[in-house]
Amino acid sequence: MTEGVVVVLNAGSSSLKFSLYEGDAVLLSGQVDGIGLRPRVMARDGAGTKLAVPDLATDPPGTPAEALLALLPWLREHLGGRPLLALGHRVVHGGQHHDRPRRVTPALIEELAALSPLAPLHQPHNLSPIRAAQDRVPDVPQVACFDTAFHRTIPEIAQVFALPFEMAARGIRRYGFHGLSYEYIASVLPEVAPDLATGRVVVAHLGNGASLCALQGGRSVATTMGFSALDGLPMGTRCGEIDPAVVLHLMREDGLDIAGVEALLYRRSGLLGLSGLSSDFRDLLASDDPRARFAIDVFVYRVARGIGSLAAALGGLDALVFTAGVGENAAPIRAAVCDACRWLGIEINETANAMKAPVITRAGSRVAAYVIPTDENLMIARHTRALLAGSSE
Ligand code: ADP
Repeated sequence: MTEGVVVVLNAGSSSLKFSLYEGDAVLLSGQVDGIGLRPRVMARDGAGTKLAVPDLATDPPGTPAEALLALLPWLREHLGGRPLLALGHRVVHGGQHHDRPRRVTPALIEELAALSPLAPLHQPHNLSPIRAAQDRVPDVPQVACFDTAFHRTIPEIAQVFALPFEMAARGIRRYGFHGLSYEYIASVLPEVAPDLATGRVVVAHLGNGASLCALQGGRSVATTMGFSALDGLPMGTRCGEIDPAVVLHLMREDGLDIAGVEALLYRRSGLLGLSGLSSDFRDLLASDDPRARFAIDVFVYRVARGIGSLAAALGGLDALVFTAGVGENAAPIRAAVCDACRWLGIEINETANAMKAPVITRAGSRVAAYVIPTDENLMIARHTRALLAGSSE
């Protein structure tokens, strides 16, 4: 029943990422970019070799849903005779109650669509290929995997905002995101560091989007992202935590409307806004412009403060894990964060850090720091297979 290939899908506003998994092995992965303008497909096989891809130019898809339908025949050709088991989708928002992936039904689609106001920039795009597949290939099972689900173990006191009590019941609360990444890290921690599986760990998912998660015994107990993926750390183009009165002030003084506030906070802030140069850490690290340095310093300061805050939530710290694009690849950022966290007992080993060794702290360091590559797609593939096997419901 669970033999076969799982197609993992991650749909954005103008892109569709796809990967084919047989067990934990990637058969191929790729993406369609520029959907709605000039769509371009790129794909590689499991060994990283570029694949010939369909030409979407004659009948260009206008949405990620159309892109999926256009690609399905080509994806089926690459199954190599194996059955297509299911489509596993990344869905940003699962709301207050979904603490695990769910099998897609018409009722679930409606329920998830009702959450779109909570994640207007992502949820509708995540759902459109699910709807399209439900219509076009209703016999192919679909599974929705939520970025919020892993954080449903966070205690109520850490989920609520200090707003009037009834607001939390309306859904105005901290959800947390990057949950599939944190869940993956929690799943491999027992192999990487068996004694930490039961310990107090802060995971730093530092990429274009960035957040921190406090793990206690492998479960999320606190996180920096909140009601939206805008809260917490500064990011590539997102501001992270700010005083909400800034928004009121700009609306009053500059006449900013909702679209203006959204553009400012989501697209013109963060590393890009601070540096005036780029949202990309590679550009900033390579630049000798003082504002690039300043933007990086602000980022490191905020990450280190966030780690201190989560260590307080955990009542201490046993380990710190770096993951995602910046966390896995930017040794100078890891070194600066570790230095700023020396008071917590983190002593970096510069050689190990430069080599991206799994353990990047000295032997005597009271708190160990690790680099562990994340794999959200693999997490979705595993969940999808497990749910179909009936072991995850
Ligand atoms: P997303 O949130 O889009 O999934 P990623 O986790 O892929 O983002 O991270 C993207 C970020 O990682 C970019 O800012 C990029 O500059 C940074 N990054 C990737 N490789 C390196 C590297 N070798 N050195 C520094 N930063 C890197």
